[in-house]
Amino acid sequence: MATSVHQLDDGAWLSVNDSRVVNVSDLWWLARHDVCSCEMADFLAERFVEIGVDHPAIEGRIAGRCIECGESGVTDWLTLGRVVDPESGRFFGVDPASVHVPRRRQRLASSTG
Ligand SMILES: [Zn+2]
Repeated sequence: MATSVHQLDDGAWLSVNDSRVVNVSDLWWLARHDVCSCEMADFLAERFVEIGVDHPAIEGRIAGRCIECGESGVTDWLTLGRVVDPESGRFFGVDPASVHVPRRRQRLASSTG
């Protein structure tokens, strides 16, 4: 079974294999990002913009704003979590409060939704 990922409710939720696994509203601690000019951004996530799978990682771009300077924007690709066993679809989310480095991607390995 292929891992299926979607965003639901206008990007409020990340769904993996039809289970809602991550709600936005988290603070993400971003380094080497281009959302704003802060070296480290305390980024309040508001909406998932794009979701993709790069096995075993689930990645996404998030719209939100830096609570330090107030600048809003969309991140490059962040690892949101991993599906360790595609059969069961068990998902392990990352800790948003640890340091994350967004990265640019040319294309997604596979994406639905
Ligand atoms: Zn900032």
